[in-house]
Amino acid sequence: MIDLINVEKPARYTGGEFNEIVKDHDKMQSSYAFCFPDIYEVGMSHLGMRILYHVINRRKTTVCERVFAPWTDMEQLMRANKVPLFSLETKKPLKEFDIVGFTLQYEMSYTNVLNMLDLADIPIRRSIRTDEHPIIMAGGPCAANPVTLEDVIDIFLIGEGEEVMNEVLDLYEDGKSAGQSKEDFLKESVKIEGVYVPKYHDFDKKVIKRIIKNLDSVSFPTDSIVPYMNIVHDRASLELFRGCIRGCRFCQAGYIYRPVREKKASTLIEQTKRILADTGYNEIGMVSLSTSDYTDLKTLCDGMLEHTEKRMVNLSVPSMRIDNFSIELMNRIQKVRKSGLTFAPEAGSQRLRDVINKNITEEEILTSAKIAKSGGYDNIKLYFMLGLPTETDEDVIAIAELAGKILDIFGRKSRINITVSTSFFVPKPFTPFQWCPQITVEEMIRRQRLLRSHIKEKKIKYNWHDFNTSVVESAISRGDRQVGQAIIKAWEKGCKFDSWNELFDMEKWEQAFSECSLDIYECASKQIALDEELPWDFIDIGVKKSFLKNEYQKALREETTENCREHCNNCGIAKYRCGVCFEDNKI
Ligand code: SF4
Repeated sequence: MIDLINVEKPARYTGGEFNEIVKDHDKMQSSYAFCFPDIYEVGMSHLGMRILYHVINRRKTTVCERVFAPWTDMEQLMRANKVPLFSLETKKPLKEFDIVGFTLQYEMSYTNVLNMLDLADIPIRRSIRTDEHPIIMAGGPCAANPVTLEDVIDIFLIGEGEEVMNEVLDLYEDGKSAGQSKEDFLKESVKIEGVYVPKYHDFDKKVIKRIIKNLDSVSFPTDSIVPYMNIVHDRASLELFRGCIRGCRFCQAGYIYRPVREKKASTLIEQTKRILADTGYNEIGMVSLSTSDYTDLKTLCDGMLEHTEKRMVNLSVPSMRIDNFSIELMNRIQKVRKSGLTFAPEAGSQRLRDVINKNITEEEILTSAKIAKSGGYDNIKLYFMLGLPTETDEDVIAIAELAGKILDIFGRKSRINITVSTSFFVPKPFTPFQWCPQITVEEMIRRQRLLRSHIKEKKIKYNWHDFNTSVVESAISRGDRQVGQAIIKAWEKGCKFDSWNELFDMEKWEQAFSECSLDIYECASKQIALDEELPWDFIDIGVKKSFLKNEYQKALREETTENCREHCNNCGIAKYRCGVCFEDNKI
């Protein structure tokens, strides 16, 4: 027993929230523990988890319960009192579930996956586990390169989960009722498209990612769980579309979620009504990779506002592009509570914006700033990346200059607050920059200082990102099986919650890599030859490798590529025969 009075935020561990689903395990054919490898506040904000929790629980035969990584205070008490990791709904130990599934949203949560298994008293290596242990599953964007965790995970789901999850659970439940073993299930499951089982994979075949072709046809959780405590994104979420038409060359999501598939405005308005009735939230986030690219935004906003305004419910847009930013739209949807504006030009100079294919001109950025000024906004956040391929000192200084020009528009005596934030470029699999090196730590420090020295105005605040976590992220994201061993070593040394500055320990990561005969800095900053075989080549994400190569070469020539609504560049994803590729009979 643990007395929750002794932990920092007890509501992280109690469950029992509004809209929680509790089922009788004895009446079910299988049980699924949905694990988010971070704390409750982060995991509960995640739309993918909300969706799959409902997809699985909609099945009459399956129970799905939530599990989050306990914060260190709770972990200490659990270990001291020999309490194994348990689910929120019925407090059932993880070990007693049939399937334990992790969502891999970011590489820096991998050590938490290992720690959660260990806390559940489940061996982390699949080679040691037996039929007595649950099946360990993983999916999510990082599963696009499953190789680093393949000694840990039994079965990966590649791509979008709604349909493939049901197929896998059907197979599991049929096998279980026929008395089949876990191994029988794993052997059989490789026949399902989108499934990768490291132990039984035939490397002559590619694993083909799954997508939902018609988003209007899959149900969406309008009755999501309403937490008792503040979480990171404390609002209901409405997903407008998947994919992104843009093709920024550093952005993994822009490639792995292709093609763009929109929901109809009528579907979304109907879902808005149900969200209002089912949750009582006072804010709905319009969630997508580049929300303002939704084709019928006016009809959608009009329709949503009809229901939200009278209830004083705010609409929020997390991601706006500067080029098609409309202050009128922002003013309309933020009538209830006006927040600041966030833009991500990513690079300060036009040259570098062309290299990364961020198709925005300086003129468009400054015009947007003028419109923002007339709309009465006085808080502007600007996001940039340092260390992008081909970046020069002039490009770095151009960030400060751009922020200065925006300040000029508002006036140095105005109430404007501009925040410039930089992160470091991390090369990601399945992007045109997957072959590119990350800049060295020395360079990171130098470029950060260079930028800081050029931001002199008090009204412009500069926030920067820790460089060491970017190094680890780069080393893991393009990692292979040997890097996977280093991740296990790092966890054995005590690494966990690596995306939390207060717990991140670079020295342990350096040692872990070196004990596996690897140099973490070299892994992060290696340039990969274009003809080299990549660890993730056996995954077919739908976008052709030749397309990515061509995009990389265009980047070096500072050439841009039109977005998918302007012109089809034949990336390969049209074989799924849906979405933007087929709009206006494009193909
Ligand atoms: S096939 Fe053409 S339209 Fe479709 S995602 Fe690729 S580039 Fe865009």
